[in-house]
Amino acid sequence: MTGNEIRKKFFDYFAQKNHQIVRSSSLVPQDDPTLLFTNAGMVQFKRVFLGEEKRAYNRAATSQKCLRAGGKHNDLENVGYTARHHTFFEMLGNFSFGDYFKKEAIGYAWELLVDGLGLAPKDLWITVYLDDEEAFEIWRDHIGVDPERIVRLGEKDNFWSMGETGPCGPCSEILIDRGAAAGCGSPDCMPGCECDRYLEIWNLVFMQYNRSEDGQMTPLPRPSIDTGMGLERIASIIQDVPTNFDTDLFTPVIQVIESLSGRQMGVDDPTDVAVKVIADHSRAAAFLIGDGVLPSNEGRGYVLRRIMRRAIRYGRNIGLTEPFLHKTVEPVFEIMKEAYPELFEDRVFITNVVKNEEVRFLETLDHGLKLLAETMEQMQRENSTVVPGEVIFKLYDTFGFPVDIVRDVVRDKGLDLDMDGFDKAMAQRREQSRSVTAFSSISEAYRNFSASTDQRPEFVGYDRLSCDSALML
Ligand code: ATP
Ligand code: MG
Ligand code: MG
Ligand code: MG
Repeated sequence: MTGNEIRKKFFDYFAQKNHQIVRSSSLVPQDDPTLLFTNAGMVQFKRVFLGEEKRAYNRAATSQKCLRAGGKHNDLENVGYTARHHTFFEMLGNFSFGDYFKKEAIGYAWELLVDGLGLAPKDLWITVYLDDEEAFEIWRDHIGVDPERIVRLGEKDNFWSMGETGPCGPCSEILIDRGAAAGCGSPDCMPGCECDRYLEIWNLVFMQYNRSEDGQMTPLPRPSIDTGMGLERIASIIQDVPTNFDTDLFTPVIQVIESLSGRQMGVDDPTDVAVKVIADHSRAAAFLIGDGVLPSNEGRGYVLRRIMRRAIRYGRNIGLTEPFLHKTVEPVFEIMKEAYPELFEDRVFITNVVKNEEVRFLETLDHGLKLLAETMEQMQRENSTVVPGEVIFKLYDTFGFPVDIVRDVVRDKGLDLDMDGFDKAMAQRREQSRSVTAFSSISEAYRNFSASTDQRPEFVGYDRLSCDSALML
């Protein structure tokens, strides 16, 4: 079954269960300042869950364009290194707005996976939230899952929330055991492990609360259902391939990367990482630009810029020194034409935007990489393992390197980044500048990123490449 066929099968199943098939909303959330990008299927229904909006239907199903690069759910730096993470992906979801609840949601998911898509129950595992006896019993008694295959996990895995505020609730997930070879090899490897062995396919969220800014949880008007299954992950299982990148949703993109670079996947790890990063980021760039985001120095535009520059830098690792990204986005239009015809319509514009960004970054990339290499040599001579903040700032400010790129370059070398020093250098630059307007937007962008509790805030500010006028006044 192709990715397109799986998407359709999902819709057909839920249409037959009286769900309204609703189009994906934009990657840019409508009127929701709490969120940088749509990161799950429920985002377009947030107000419906909160009881602020009524729809003509109380059951829906979607295939939602999602982006997880920044904010609470941030997978940017996972991409390339796991079998299952993307920045841009499609989330298949069914929703109940105060209609059915746990029992039906669990029954539908199991029936579709096992009877509809042919997954073997012997490979499936279930997780439930710590004290969710009701979900545990439904799985054991109604579905007949062996209780040894039902694992209780805590907040991190089994309590879902869109962001720091908004609808949330305990959840139950369906995982598939991809075999020991797919995992970390630890004898303690169990569902909940960060490795790819127990691959999480479908999250069933029992939407029950609204979390407010002060952390208080108030019950929603009516308990609801919100589910999410990654299309690329389920495709990897059905197509019986080791990673999402081996599915038909990616192979045409990967073939173009292989032919441009003359490298093959499956020969060495660094090549595989680079190819996966480029393939993933090509899709993300195409869809972001398609949804009206343009590369810039703040907010959403800076996330797009970071994604593209990360791909361009990884291109260097496999010998791609000429502009290439505008060519690796091409196959995305064709693959996605059936589901997203509007993306295909916009292909010329999208390709041009990508090319402009590449040409511009390539002007400074080599100089920046040289500075970083020299810095690392010097660090080695001095037995230091911390990249100085001033260098990170210079790379950012003069050479247009988002901090992720520096982190990517040093990640396998066991080096740390002096982010305090970076902050200081940034503050100094701030004092030097007489431009107030440029910086008010930086602190704005800062707040967007620091919405995440478990991550340090990241700069999504300017770089000198295009902000000279604002900074050098
Ligand atoms: P993981 O633990 O693997 O990072 P998650 O728990 O963060 O996944 P959820 O927030 O529960 O994921 O999202 C619902 C579903 O969306 C997941 O079960 C998975 O199938 C899919 N999904 C989540 N993040 C990604 C991603 N970065 N790339 C591709 N699919 C994803
Ligand atoms: Mg995750
Ligand atoms: Mg998870
Ligand atoms: Mg999950």
